[in-house]
Amino acid sequence: MPRIRQQNVTAAQWSSNGGKLGAVDLTDAANNPFALNVFSIAVQRQRLPKDIFKRLQGTLENGEALEPSIADAVALAMKEWALENGATHYTHWFQPLTGSTAEKHDSFFGPTPDGNALADFSGSELIQGEPDASSFPTGGVRATFEARGYTAWDPTSPAFILENPNGALLCIPTAFASWTGEALDAKIPLLRSMDALSKSAIRALRLLGDEASERVFTTIGAEQEYFLIDEQYFFERPDLQITGRTLFGARPPKGHELDDHYFGSIPERVLAFMMESERELAKLGVPVKTRHNEVAPAQYEIAPVFENSNVGSDHQQLTMQVMKSVARNYGLICLLHEKPFAGLNGSGKHNNWSMGTDTGHNLMDPGETPSENVKFLFFCAAVISAVNKHQGLLRASVANIGQDHRLGANEAPPAIISIFLGAELDKVFESLASGDGDPDTAGSVMALGASVLPGLPRHGGDRNRTSPFAFTGNKFEFRALGSSMSLSFPNSVLNTIVAEAIDGLADQLEARLGGGGDVAAAVGAVVKDAYVANKAVCFGGDNYSDEWHVEAEQRGLLNLRTTPDALPEVLTDTSVAAFDKYGVLSRRELESRFEVWVEQYVLHANIEAETTASIARTLLLPAALRHLAMVAAAGVTELEGEIRGLIDEFTEAITQLESANIHPDDAEGMELAVYARDSQLAAMTSVREVADRLEKIVADDLWPLPKYSEMLFIK
Ligand code: ADP
Ligand code: MG
Repeated sequence: MPRIRQQNVTAAQWSSNGGKLGAVDLTDAANNPFALNVFSIAVQRQRLPKDIFKRLQGTLENGEALEPSIADAVALAMKEWALENGATHYTHWFQPLTGSTAEKHDSFFGPTPDGNALADFSGSELIQGEPDASSFPTGGVRATFEARGYTAWDPTSPAFILENPNGALLCIPTAFASWTGEALDAKIPLLRSMDALSKSAIRALRLLGDEASERVFTTIGAEQEYFLIDEQYFFERPDLQITGRTLFGARPPKGHELDDHYFGSIPERVLAFMMESERELAKLGVPVKTRHNEVAPAQYEIAPVFENSNVGSDHQQLTMQVMKSVARNYGLICLLHEKPFAGLNGSGKHNNWSMGTDTGHNLMDPGETPSENVKFLFFCAAVISAVNKHQGLLRASVANIGQDHRLGANEAPPAIISIFLGAELDKVFESLASGDGDPDTAGSVMALGASVLPGLPRHGGDRNRTSPFAFTGNKFEFRALGSSMSLSFPNSVLNTIVAEAIDGLADQLEARLGGGGDVAAAVGAVVKDAYVANKAVCFGGDNYSDEWHVEAEQRGLLNLRTTPDALPEVLTDTSVAAFDKYGVLSRRELESRFEVWVEQYVLHANIEAETTASIARTLLLPAALRHLAMVAAAGVTELEGEIRGLIDEFTEAITQLESANIHPDDAEGMELAVYARDSQLAAMTSVREVADRLEKIVADDLWPLPKYSEMLFIK
């Protein structure tokens, strides 16, 4: 069946079908859906016996293991709450190394001897599950004879209920480990890294005179970019279905040059989708705050209010899941791939990150008083040192095959990791470094702190959109994450390397103080040394420019362009030492991750390459041949020559891709990843290049794939 424009008419004809206009009045507390489906602290307080509630909260605060008696009581209350809210099943909801979430549902109900069913859910079922882990990637950690994996309840992230038109499911956020206790998931290292950072930060805070704080939390708020296209087009494109991105597609005459989409009014159908997604997320306790159009046509953004890293990371997974499923209610598909459309901006995820004390102080906030400023400078210097020392690891933490089309492609931050401090902060560090403020005397540091810092425009008067790691007034924004990614690993890395840097600076501070001395003066000296040693990583200019690439190389900064270039950074001595020192990931756990990520790269590259070959040969080549037959029948020789030439080129490129798709016999691991990148992906690019030229001359009704102009502009 030739493609006709009817699809477009259908896609454009979405209507709300006269559904009731408007939402309930949210100012009426009874209508507020926030956390309706969450086993929140408020629900726990209401439903748990008083002493159990107290002991549970105590356990959580001190991070101690849970007593079985508490677990039983919590399980009972959780079950009753879930059943009352329509749940029939429960699942340990966990995050294996695939990057997404996993669930295995079990019914609450078991048969009784008298032929009835009884709802049952014990403390041990709450605390621990034992899914067959053999189908999750483990990178060799779990020997094949020991296929068991264990899931352990994470009581620090609240359980929630996922609704379905036909029932509901209690989800219990869970960690996933091997029989031998090694982390097989993304959550365990994140939790460990949060503990590590807290310990280091508390130690430093004591040196800085803070006796009150007991714990430091890392916080994250992620701005998620995504595309929405009509499902008509999606299901007509095997490339989108199978790989999440278009493997073919000529550039449309109009892209985002006109900038008419960014912050423009939001199309009605899209807004309807956003509102329902946000309501569903609110029920799950996800504090969504911001929505807007993004730069590319059909591209949008959603951002929450920040939360502690663990909960924020779980909520980010839920955000992606809910958006994907709600989109279908509107005949839309939510694309979370890093680069669904070549030639247009890809989608990233800005990871806003900070550290805050349990006494309510944001350590990345310059503050109002000299003593707050001294703290701020200390922790800020720690971040600068950490990012400089572990640039490669940070780059590796955001590596995946989709990112290779984005990082450095003159739109997203480049593959070079650098820090943007902003003019004011730059000035502060520079004057410390040059000694203008004479940081060795107490008075002058205090003066520097007092006179310069309070003037900082908190919420970023100056902005640098091109920086991969930017200070934005009261937090750092790690902008290099890809839109499909879990936040867990990049944040595990950040927390670990900053913990290490804080300890490094704290050691120096301790040495300088020697049991006494002026804290502010000593901090000034420590901060100065740290900045001078690491300032090569600070850059305020245009990260997209060619000059920066040259300069970065002169500065000795890493520029790891592709995933196979970046992944080995996970296993360098510096990376292994940092993870090991803070007990976040052992060498074995790191090696297993490395293995899994290399394998995923190879698998994805291969799927893309096979899909390209198949679409080219079975959809596009036949279309070109039909077009040729038509032209030949019309006897227009000049056109016939043109199309014949292209078909020859196309056939040649397809043949080359097909042979590249046969992997060399003995290659495996990293060698195969490099092969996939240099042979398969390169051959795919050649096939696409010819196909995109064909798309521009083959009769429109013969071309079997929806075009960019249709997918992106018909809403
Ligand atoms: P932008 O100008 O970058 O769009 P926004 O004001 O929209 O800035 O904030 C971006 C994100 O930063 C939000 O998700 C917000 O919750 C988050 N954020 C703000 N403060 C912090 C913090 N202390 N720690 C972590 N994230 C934060
Ligand atoms: Mg931002």
